[in-house]
Amino acid sequence: MTHDALAAADPQIAELVAAEERRQADTVKLIASENYVSKAVLEATGTVLTNKYSEGYAGKRYYEGQQVIDQIETVAVERAKALFGVEHANVQPYSGSPANLAIYLAFLQPGDTVMGMGLPFGGHLTHGWSVSATGKWFTPVRYGVRKDTGRVDMDEVRDLAREHRPKVIFCGGTAIPRTIDFPAFAEIAREVGAVLAADIAHIAGLIAGGAHPSPVGHADVISTTTHKTLRGPRGAMLMSTAEHAAAINKAVFPGLQGGPHNHTTAAIAVALKEASTDEFKAYAHQVVANAKALAEELASRGFDLVSGGTDNHLILMDLTPKGVGGKPAAQALDRAGLETNYNAVPYDTRKPFDPSGIRIGTPSVTSRGMGEAEMRQIGAWIDEVVTALAKESDVEETIARVHGEVSELTARFPAPGL
Ligand SMILES: *Cc1c(COP(=O)(O)O)cnc(C)c1O
Repeated sequence: MTHDALAAADPQIAELVAAEERRQADTVKLIASENYVSKAVLEATGTVLTNKYSEGYAGKRYYEGQQVIDQIETVAVERAKALFGVEHANVQPYSGSPANLAIYLAFLQPGDTVMGMGLPFGGHLTHGWSVSATGKWFTPVRYGVRKDTGRVDMDEVRDLAREHRPKVIFCGGTAIPRTIDFPAFAEIAREVGAVLAADIAHIAGLIAGGAHPSPVGHADVISTTTHKTLRGPRGAMLMSTAEHAAAINKAVFPGLQGGPHNHTTAAIAVALKEASTDEFKAYAHQVVANAKALAEELASRGFDLVSGGTDNHLILMDLTPKGVGGKPAAQALDRAGLETNYNAVPYDTRKPFDPSGIRIGTPSVTSRGMGEAEMRQIGAWIDEVVTALAKESDVEETIARVHGEVSELTARFPAPGL
């Protein structure tokens, strides 16, 4: 892409942006939380909408000059409501973490009990983990997954909920390879009088495309980022029934935030329009088909997949049987052009900064148009690099060869927006 004004005004940053464009083009991105936005979404984020302050909501603002911004935000809200089938949507949260904080502000007092999945099991920091404000200022109760199945144990969730009576229960997370049972969570929340918050940050695009069940009708409030499988700009949304609309809006503004990022709001609107197409439905189903193909390839090569496989876009694997840690594996794979992240696995015996696993996902490679055949090739490359690393033989040669082959593949599948 050309950035003429940027190159003239700030060659240093322009060159770094160009370098990142080249890196993204020439990498097989397997980071489960990332994606490539369309050129249309990119263009919307780079507009003069960034110049405007618009604290408040459409029709009730604190600054003049909202003739256009009100329309843009209304379009985004209406598209979110239509796409997900919800009664209320707030498109202003700056990102997923502030969106979740708004849930606390709307439904809890400091010190109240919140239940969520523990971080080492795949939960998010903002679901009450100890280093997060949500774990410091509230009383967290955590559920995990069963050691034998790698899946959420709904009996444990029910027992903990009955014992601790949380005011809010979060379901969803960052490293969950399996379908989230929203009806079961809703039943438990109802029994203990808790608000059920479904955090669909990772799977929003799959839900929009009909490739994962929807929490609508089960969760009281739904939180999502817009930049993961939903393929929008970095941002977030909160959705709910009409009953909770006022509480959610008040929590976001003036509770936590000032002016919304209007250029982001416009880009969210564009992404929601794209996500309502048949093409996007096909994309969402292909993301899952690709993850299943990659999981099968890896399992057939002796990789230990948490829960034995995947229902969604994400694979979590424990490299212990392969004899390497997650961090050195992720670093070697990155040097081979295969971008992943090291990740804790359930019941990990290693430290969080040097855990046993890696997490991989198929949203980005699917956005490039890759299919099952490419997934099997990627699975083979992962195996070759990890095996060379474990055996400490031909590591550099393997990385160089795989990177060469990765470059041939990425050249055949250009990334959207690049
Ligand atoms: C990514 C994610 C978030 C946080 O989003 P940020 O935009 O990084 O703040 C929250 N919850 C879940 C489950 C996530 O995966």
